[in-house]
Amino acid sequence: MASYPRVKRQITVERCEKLLSEHFFTDLNLRSSLYQKCTNSEKYVQLSVYKVPDLKRISFEEAVKGTYKPAKRGDSFGPSWSTHWFHIHVTVPDDWKHDEVQFIWDANNEGMIWSTEGVPIQGLTGGGGDTRRVEYILTRQSKGGEKFEFYLEMACNELFGNGSNGLINPPDPDKYYTLKQVELAVPNHRAWRLFHDFEIILEMAKSIPDNTMRSAQALHTANHIVNVFRSDDENSIDEALEISREFLSHKNGGGTHLRVTAIGNCHIDTAWLWPFDETKRKVARSWSTQVGLMEIYPEYKFACSQAQQFEWLQTYYPALFKKIKEKSADGQFLPIGGTWVEMDCNIPSGESFCRQFLFGQRFFEQNFGHRCKVFWLPDTFGYSAQLPQIIRGAGLKYFFTQKLSWNNINSFPNTTFYWIGLDGSKVLTHMCPAETYVAQCRPGELIRSVENHKDKEFSDEALLLFGNGDGGGGPLASMLERLHRLKDIDGLPKVEIGSVDDFYERVERNSSELVSWKGELYFELHRGTYTSQGKIKRYNRKSELLLRDVELLSTFASQSDQKNCDYPKDTLDGLWKYVLLNQFHDVLPGSSIESVYVDAYKCELTSKFDDFTPQFYEEVERKGIELRERALGTLFKSSASSPDTEEGLLVFNTLGWDRTEVVEVPVSSGLGSFTQYAVDKKSGYVLVKDTVSLGIQSVDVGTSDIGDISPATVTSVGHDFYLLENQFVKATFDKHGRLTSLIDKIKDREIVPPGQFGNAFKIYEDIPLFWDAWDVEIYHLQKGRDAGLGGTVKIYDNGPLRASLILETKLSKKSSLRQIISLSVFSQRLDFETVVNWDENRQFLKVEFPFDINCDYATYETQFGFIQRPTHYNTSWDSAKFEVCGHKFADLSEYGYGVALLNDCKYGYATHGNVMRLSLLRSPKAPDEHCDIGTHEFKYAIYPHSGSFLESNVVREAYQFNVPLLVRSTPKEFTQSYKPRSYFSVENAPNVILDTVKRAEDSDEIILRLYEAYGGHATARLRSSLSVESIFETNIMEDEQNPIEYDILGGAKIKFKPFQLITLKVVLR
Ligand SMILES: [Zn+2]
Repeated sequence: MASYPRVKRQITVERCEKLLSEHFFTDLNLRSSLYQKCTNSEKYVQLSVYKVPDLKRISFEEAVKGTYKPAKRGDSFGPSWSTHWFHIHVTVPDDWKHDEVQFIWDANNEGMIWSTEGVPIQGLTGGGGDTRRVEYILTRQSKGGEKFEFYLEMACNELFGNGSNGLINPPDPDKYYTLKQVELAVPNHRAWRLFHDFEIILEMAKSIPDNTMRSAQALHTANHIVNVFRSDDENSIDEALEISREFLSHKNGGGTHLRVTAIGNCHIDTAWLWPFDETKRKVARSWSTQVGLMEIYPEYKFACSQAQQFEWLQTYYPALFKKIKEKSADGQFLPIGGTWVEMDCNIPSGESFCRQFLFGQRFFEQNFGHRCKVFWLPDTFGYSAQLPQIIRGAGLKYFFTQKLSWNNINSFPNTTFYWIGLDGSKVLTHMCPAETYVAQCRPGELIRSVENHKDKEFSDEALLLFGNGDGGGGPLASMLERLHRLKDIDGLPKVEIGSVDDFYERVERNSSELVSWKGELYFELHRGTYTSQGKIKRYNRKSELLLRDVELLSTFASQSDQKNCDYPKDTLDGLWKYVLLNQFHDVLPGSSIESVYVDAYKCELTSKFDDFTPQFYEEVERKGIELRERALGTLFKSSASSPDTEEGLLVFNTLGWDRTEVVEVPVSSGLGSFTQYAVDKKSGYVLVKDTVSLGIQSVDVGTSDIGDISPATVTSVGHDFYLLENQFVKATFDKHGRLTSLIDKIKDREIVPPGQFGNAFKIYEDIPLFWDAWDVEIYHLQKGRDAGLGGTVKIYDNGPLRASLILETKLSKKSSLRQIISLSVFSQRLDFETVVNWDENRQFLKVEFPFDINCDYATYETQFGFIQRPTHYNTSWDSAKFEVCGHKFADLSEYGYGVALLNDCKYGYATHGNVMRLSLLRSPKAPDEHCDIGTHEFKYAIYPHSGSFLESNVVREAYQFNVPLLVRSTPKEFTQSYKPRSYFSVENAPNVILDTVKRAEDSDEIILRLYEAYGGHATARLRSSLSVESIFETNIMEDEQNPIEYDILGGAKIKFKPFQLITLKVVLR
């Protein structure tokens, strides 16, 4: 009979928690017993330090040559982002014979231990909490008195960077870190064993429902241990271990249990709250530590994605890369994912998706002997409907994420299911029910794995991704200790470390009852990422299309003149890698700190990674233009005769269909006189008619005569209205630049509903709940206002080829807009070329167009196709899509008619009822306080068309809006004799787009990538003026598959299924 009162459950729980507390009673609780011996005497540990100047990150070889000065515990190091190299000499006390000796280092920041030979050994993470990793084992069994010498590279940032007062705030540039702990210690292994046992027992008590027997037993056991343990009595630890062993020895029964496969992982954002160069070091710190754990725990497996991070390791840490290859061959270090980086999956083009896999899979195959099977994106912000087809085309079968658990409106209904893409491709998908990629291997996560598993009646398997992440770190030894104890305990699902591939293969074998999800995996959060950091979105679109032109032109140029114009494969690979790198899921979405964008646009030469710079977009632009001009020069001169003072024009159309357009050409002496000059007289307009598909032809400046066709005109109507008109449309603008009427003259219909305005600017207050750069929230729609009224509109270009207006207006006290609104003679498209000076605090600028069109769904371009989303807010699933991602166009169509809203670098759209809005600029303040402040250039256009979207040529028009004809002046003697030449054309299938022309990865053959763009069948005829010998269909990896019949007269007949992506390898004679 007890002689003490019953204790309330919660009081017992809190009492037990104190046994492990980091903060309370640490002189008496279990933490006081974790080390048997300890010294921080400078007699045993001597430090000297070299402060690297100018925030540089230098190599080991450079670091050892530095000037070292004495240092000690209590010293402070900084500022933020600086690096300090320590040279450390340790002498183990003589009487520590036979003991395990640990070196303990805590400066609240990140560190890396290096051997004196320059091999990275292990990463360290200072500070408290779950990410703390401060011990480095010097010896498992000391001889006493031995000496150790090593280096320690201190990085003055924490795992999550240097945010001032909080995670996502912009970095504080002036943080200093105090070396608060540097000592030698001998661990008490029995006390550690009890620590890990007790953690599990107590958490079982807390996370298993408290009305169950097992929970009561767990709490009773934990309390019993607290009663037994005494910090001054070693024997009490043995007694307590006996109690914990008894509890933990109870296994699960024979019923069906969820089988949890645990896999170590370490999410390292390739840049986020720290710059790219810090990531290179994070990779080495995190992965060297994992190699160390693999040596201690032979059953441990670690999955690791992003070929780019592996390539950095190979370049800057070759010794560590070699170790990782060995661990991969042993089956412990498992490359996964198949892509170059864990990219954003909303914004990159279809071809960028293909290249993410092409570069990723080829890297893994070349370095680890096999391609990946699992596409791995634990953290990316939503997933395009076209991914399943591309995943399968790149040789992968499975998909992993957990991000949709962050949805803040609807709970995604599936855990394990088939994801079906636009074209019907199927990918087995699992979203781990623990809903995290940084699990700590605690009982609560296993319980969540059961509770949140939405398909447990169809599948008894779940993944658990453990290991600290986002800023790297990865699993700790304590996680592996806990996992070992959790393997098979009564009250929790069984868990075992295993490979992710094996997990999916088991799930697949028992997948007959799994449900499916068709189309986009829309993420109901982070909708601001379609718009934040407008400049990077612009660079992304422009770079994708520039590289498209360069590859296509270089392919043809190297065919026509191999000697003078070889295909620049290495350079192109380098440029593509920059573009792919910046598509990382915190860079392209706009959610990184300011310095990441400085690097992304133009990197300064400040680091040991200098040989990798200058990097990114400015290099892509500079080198891309140089290569494009070189290829054009080769193509245009390939049959040129002697130079002539009289100039002519040659045009290359890099799109796969004929085009008639007005182009702007710089005025130069030999060109003769233009039908129309631009306002500044420095260039003139030329009408280019019926250019051939993917080919060259000459143009005569003098033939811009439009004959009987009505010219493009502009007139003012009274003081308040302006009229832009051509043969197709008549557009009326008011004095604020708003579109008040748009009449389709052929169809005789008004497109702007009476009393409504197009080209109307709206500014919304844009204060999210937390994730500033990431989120525009549903309530922003309640707080919008008109902007841009009260400016001036003037007539600009007067026709006949192009007529335009210029609008200049203030958007607010601090922001202004200048816009040229134009119409050309041969198009019904109205273009809006815009420059905005933007200086706002959490305001969102959109432009709005109401169309007199009735439709419940709007159409948005996605990668190699389109998807439709509701124009109403009927259900919570419809409302959640109040802001969506679109590529070059969005369209609103009804029977017989539609209007598209095109853009040249924007990705956010919102359509409600008949009003379509294009998202232009945001102004979040975290993590980059200057996000989007400054000058922005962009274009959008509206394109009214006969027929609904499916019968329209909107897809082609959107390409034309983004891909200009390439016109260059050349000696007239040559242009006059020039016969049009089309390298490739696609006939009989207006719904098929020839998107990509490049040289094959491993041969001189030509790769073509085509897709069906409208969701229908097609039988296309592919013709070429090149001497084609044979054609093969391949996958995205360019593995040859089926031969395709080809003859010189008829070309090749290629059948397409809806939204099908077809890659062809063309072998030339
Ligand atoms: Zn991430």
